[in-house]
Amino acid sequence: MTTVVNLNGRLLPPEQALVSVFDRGFLYGDSVYEVVRTYRGRPFELDRHLARLERSAGRLALELPWSLARSKTEIERTLEAAGEFPSEPEAAPWNEGEKSIRVIATRGAGELGLDPALAVDPLAMVMVTPLKGPPASKYRTGAACRIVGIRHDAPEAVDTTAKTGAHLANVLAVSEARRWGADEALLLDRDGLVTEGASSNVFAVRQGRLETPPLAVGILEGVTRGVAMALARGAGLDVREVPLRSADLALAEELFITSTAREILPVTNLDGRPLGSGQVGPVTTRLHALFREHADRAAQAR
Ligand code: PMP
Repeated sequence: MTTVVNLNGRLLPPEQALVSVFDRGFLYGDSVYEVVRTYRGRPFELDRHLARLERSAGRLALELPWSLARSKTEIERTLEAAGEFPSEPEAAPWNEGEKSIRVIATRGAGELGLDPALAVDPLAMVMVTPLKGPPASKYRTGAACRIVGIRHDAPEAVDTTAKTGAHLANVLAVSEARRWGADEALLLDRDGLVTEGASSNVFAVRQGRLETPPLAVGILEGVTRGVAMALARGAGLDVREVPLRSADLALAEELFITSTAREILPVTNLDGRPLGSGQVGPVTTRLHALFREHADRAAQAR
């Protein structure tokens, strides 16, 4: 089998994994989720992802149907049921045959209406699908990013540090980036400060320092962001969380984005113009090599 869905503990093929149209995740995005990936078939940084899921749920006062231990067991069962995956075409070597694990919890179904008290059947699910990382060639040439017109959700509205199912701004941002032929959208907040990518965190190398927007601008605390910062500091780099503007990115020596599926992906084109030298830069190359070693060690440690 390839894709397997675990719906409240029942293992199902995708065509049988059906959810009620009254589910609030579907109706209102009233849900939280995580995307974890495997290395050599084993989940990477699972504890950090599940801790973030608990934090996200806490911010929405959404009671998770599964305990931490149950989530881990259900993830294991789903991975096992999925079996071995064939390699995706053009996959980077470290992504060959690997899996993406999406864990979702919704407030459940119930009578129509916004009041969360109407929810009766909270839903937990795990979806195991083939990991779709960037093609190997993107790590050599670098990706293209577009600073899009649509602004990042305001952190004063729904807490943007929670990973919720309400993702419309990110969907529209990706759509805008794609129209420009870019691989990822970067979003500004209403004051023009750089926040994050539609599904990634962003880093700039400026005057040899590594800079990334602070969590206070309302971004997701990316698991990969955290690993990248720790590795960079361990390698003696000066890492700073500082407010950045579009011009700071445009004039950066190097740019890269981080996410679970992308690891550390160099960006060599911003808004249709070459970034820095137009080539993948030395700091990004070094950090990605450190990340590769770290992920390999984590996979072997099991
Ligand atoms: N920001 C947003 C908005 C995201 O959706 C993601 C992907 N989960 C990230 C950043 C990167 O987070 P991570 O490194 O944990 O995948």
